[in-house]
Amino acid sequence: MTRDEFIDYWTANAGIAMEELKLSGFIALPCDCGGCSCKGWQMTNAILYQLDSEAFLALPQEYQDEIKLLEGR
Ligand SMILES: [Zn+2]
Repeated sequence: MTRDEFIDYWTANAGIAMEELKLSGFIALPCDCGGCSCKGWQMTNAILYQLDSEAFLALPQEYQDEIKLLEGR
C-alpha cells in the first residue's frame, strides 16, 4: 500500500477529509510494527514528536519537514 492509498483508506474509515486531518496535525508515517493488520503505515499526531527526540531524528528528512510544518515551527 502506498502512502497516498493509506491516507485515502484512513480518511474513508474515519469519515473525515484530508484537510481536516492536516488541520488536526495528523501525519502518515512508515510503520514496521509487524502487526498482522499493519499496512506499513501509521497515522500519528505530529504533536507527539519532540523535535530533538531520537524518534523524530530517525525519520527521513521529508517527514521531519512535514512534522515541523504541521506543528507550525
Ligand atoms: Zn504497523
